[in-house]
Amino acid sequence: MSTQTPTLTDRLSRPIHDLRVSVTDRCNFRCVYCMPKDVFDKQYKFLPRKELLSFEEIERVVKAFAEQGVTKIRLTGGEPLVRTDLEHLIEKVAAVEGIRDVSLTTNASLMTLKRARSLKDAGLKRVNVSLDAMDDETFMKVNDVGVSVQTVLDGIEAAAAVSFDAIKINMVVKKGLNDHSVLPMARFFHGTGQILRFIEFMDVGNVNAWDLSHVLTVSQIAELINAELPIEPVEANYRGEVAKRWQYKDGGGEIGIISSVSQPFCGDCSRARLSAIGGLYTCLFATDGHDLRALLRDEDPAKSSDEALREKIRAIWSVREDRYSETRSQVSVIRPKVEMSFIGG
Ligand code: SAM
Ligand code: SF4
Ligand code: SF4
Repeated sequence: MSTQTPTLTDRLSRPIHDLRVSVTDRCNFRCVYCMPKDVFDKQYKFLPRKELLSFEEIERVVKAFAEQGVTKIRLTGGEPLVRTDLEHLIEKVAAVEGIRDVSLTTNASLMTLKRARSLKDAGLKRVNVSLDAMDDETFMKVNDVGVSVQTVLDGIEAAAAVSFDAIKINMVVKKGLNDHSVLPMARFFHGTGQILRFIEFMDVGNVNAWDLSHVLTVSQIAELINAELPIEPVEANYRGEVAKRWQYKDGGGEIGIISSVSQPFCGDCSRARLSAIGGLYTCLFATDGHDLRALLRDEDPAKSSDEALREKIRAIWSVREDRYSETRSQVSVIRPKVEMSFIGG
């Protein structure tokens, strides 16, 4: 029997709708803005397997969230496709009552046609592929492991061949690194039906040497594109949509820009994040997570029950006040933040 309760809201009246689940902290890329090689080197201690939540544990957490209003699950990481058994998790999560959408964020370098088909068969609905440039020189400078643009384009083609409900392409724009790729990316995806979304470079984590001067803002990106490929704004699809939308005036499709830095959208933020070891984070810029794994693994059945799990989630979300991006410029004390590769984008 369903134990659906009214959607949980936080202190700022924001409902909980999305859960991002990080399935691994490992990745086959070393993007300079996310997992720079000098930190994530051979000595770096990634999480041992036994520390990770099992798929059954993730399924329990997803059920508890679904019972409180979550309808969308995004699998992320690290690179989620390094988990060769990811399809088993997708099957479990897609079958949870109340979950209407299971999506994946990936660098697509491991997305073969066979993999795309098995992901789709398991119940994956939508895929976001990260690609930061159209030329190998820039792209290899970003991923820092020598993966070519064509490898990712092949991954996108494989995903397109199995007809996911949607494929979006995400490009993080960092001034001086890949901002010259904005137009080549726009030209390439114009007319393909795949929505290209530009993401302002964010100060997530502590290792990417973020500086405001590295940010190309939403209006600068829009102006750059508009000068060559005229665009006009489009209404948001729903409250809480993270990307601002534009469409090409010539019918060549749509683009989005995620303006987390220059025009924050904390007021509509309905996302929670679960790390691979079961830490629940209520903001991308949080310092600490709330440990759900300890509860899940408690030997006392009363403490590890579904009711206890729901109660813990309720207790955490109902007092949530996070709005880091809106207060970024006022924050004077620099505190450590969790890394993007640890809790997922
Ligand atoms: N490995 C997968 C991928 O790259 O798609 C999933 C995880 S990755 C952390 C998720 C997204 O976060 C990617 O689109 C990546 O470009 C983005 N990202 C990582 N660091 C970022 C930063 N400092 N600012 C903005 N976006 C960032
Ligand atoms: Fe890996 Fe994604 Fe981070 Fe790049 S952005 S290092 S692909 S987790
Ligand atoms: Fe949500 Fe935190 Fe990002 Fe604001 S800064 S949109 S609260 S994740």
